[in-house]
Amino acid sequence: MTLCEVVVPYFRLEGEENMRVSTYEMFFHFPEYGKTIMFNGLSGTLDMVPISMGTALEQEAINKSKCVTINESVSQVLLKRYHLTELTEEDEISSCFELANKYEKIQKPVYDAHRFIILPTYKCNFCCPYCYERDIEDRVSTNKPEQLMTKEQVDNIFSIMERYPYIAEKSQMEIFGGEPLYKNTLPIVRYIVEKATRAGRNITVTTNGYDLNLFEDLLSPAKISAVQITVDGTEAIHNARRVSRSGGKTFHKIIDNMRLALDKGIVVRARVNVDKSNLTSYVELINYFKEIGYFEYPKFVFTYALVRTLPGQKNDLCITDSEFFDYLEENITDNTLMSYAISEENGGLLRNLLNNPVAASKTRYCGAVGSSIFFSPDNLLYNCTEVVGQPQYAIGTYDTEIHIDEKKESVWKKRHMPNIPECLRCPLVFMCSGGCAFRAMECGCADGPYCVSIKESFERRLRIEAKLYDIFTRS
Ligand code: SF4
Ligand code: SF4
Repeated sequence: MTLCEVVVPYFRLEGEENMRVSTYEMFFHFPEYGKTIMFNGLSGTLDMVPISMGTALEQEAINKSKCVTINESVSQVLLKRYHLTELTEEDEISSCFELANKYEKIQKPVYDAHRFIILPTYKCNFCCPYCYERDIEDRVSTNKPEQLMTKEQVDNIFSIMERYPYIAEKSQMEIFGGEPLYKNTLPIVRYIVEKATRAGRNITVTTNGYDLNLFEDLLSPAKISAVQITVDGTEAIHNARRVSRSGGKTFHKIIDNMRLALDKGIVVRARVNVDKSNLTSYVELINYFKEIGYFEYPKFVFTYALVRTLPGQKNDLCITDSEFFDYLEENITDNTLMSYAISEENGGLLRNLLNNPVAASKTRYCGAVGSSIFFSPDNLLYNCTEVVGQPQYAIGTYDTEIHIDEKKESVWKKRHMPNIPECLRCPLVFMCSGGCAFRAMECGCADGPYCVSIKESFERRLRIEAKLYDIFTRS
C-alpha cells in the first residue's frame, strides 16, 4: 500500500483563476512528518502533500480567497485527483447529487436482496446493566411466559425470504435476540439452522456465548458459521457488566465457549462495549486474548463499540471517540497490538480507501435505511437493531406474507443519499450518508443529518492508521 505523494520543491502564485479547492476536501496535518494527507470525499481520493502546501490550501478553502496558486504541473495533478476543481461550488454539489443517484442505482440489486434477521425470543438469560433491550416487558417479566418463535413462524419467514432475490452478499442470515442461544431456544434454533442449510444460507448469531456449548453440533462453516460474543473487559470487569440471571460468573465459561467455536472452524467476533468503566482494561483484555492464543486462530476477530446514549439521555460513563483514541495512543506502542485495538478487520479505513476504488460510494448509513428486516416472535417487523421489541417502531407485521406499513417504513427508508441536502455538502457524504436514523428521529430531525462523532471518528482513525502503516516513510 502506498499513498500517492505529490512531491513539490515549492509552490507559488501562478494565475489559475478558475481553480479552487474542492468543497469536499479534508486536510490532516502531520507536523512531525512535515506532511498533510488530503482526502476528497466526492471522489474518495487520498494523497499526501508537503505540510506547507496542505496548510495553505486549507486556508484558501476556509477563506475562499485566492491567496495560493500552485505551479501548473502540480495543480494539474491535484485537479486530476479532484482535490482542486474548476467547477463552481453549486456545480460540484450538483455533481454530488448525480453521483449519489448513480451509486444508488448501481447498488440497487444489493438493497433489493435484503438482510434477514430472526429473533427467536426477546428473553435473555443475562441482565446486563447497560442493555438497551432491558425494558422490553417480555424480557424482564419473570411471570410472563416466554414467547418463543414457533416452527410455523419460521416456515413463514423462509417462504417470505424466497420471494426476494438471492445474492451471495446477502445469503448470510442472522439470528438475534433477546438471547437467541440458550437452553429454551435450542429446538427452534436447530429448526432454523436446518432450514437455512437446505436453503444454502449460513448463519451469523449475536449471542452472549454463555450457553454456546449446548449448540456445539450446529457450529460449522456450513451452519452457524459466525458468532459475535460480547466480552466487556478482563475477568472482574466483565463479570460485573455481563451478569447472568442465575447469578453465576460468566467470564470463563464464555472464553471457553469461544475456543470451542474457534476449534469448530467458525468466525468468532469478540466485541467489547467500551465506556469509562472498562476503558482502562481494554489493552489488558487484548493482551489476555493474545496470551491464550486466540489471535492465532485466523477466524478470531476482535472488535469494539463505544457505548452510546440516545439524544436527551444522560450517561456519564459514555466516552467520545477522541477519548478512546487518546487512550489507545497513550497506552499502546506496539503496532500489532494497535491493529487489534482498532479492530481493522476489513483492512482498515485507510487501506480500504487506497485499495478499493468504490470505498467511498456509500449512500445509506446502515441496514435500517437499507434493507434489513428483523422478524420478531410476536409477528412484528423491524428494521433497526436498537428498536426491536418496541412496537411503536415496528414497520409492519408478518404471517405467510409481510405487511409493511409504508408510511412508517418511509420515515427510515427515505434517509439515503441524495435525500439529505446537508450531507450533499459534506466531505463524508459517501463514507457516512446521513448518520444513525434512529438517533436522528429521536432528536426530532428525521429528515436531517445525524453527525455526532462521525467526523471525529474518521479523523482519529485515519491519523492512527497513517502512523500504524508508516505511510510517511513508505510512500
Ligand atoms: S450525517 Fe453529518 S457527517 Fe454524515 S454525511 Fe451527513 S453531514 Fe456528513
Ligand atoms: S438506525 Fe442507528 S441504531 Fe438503528 S441500526 Fe442504524 S445505526 Fe444502528
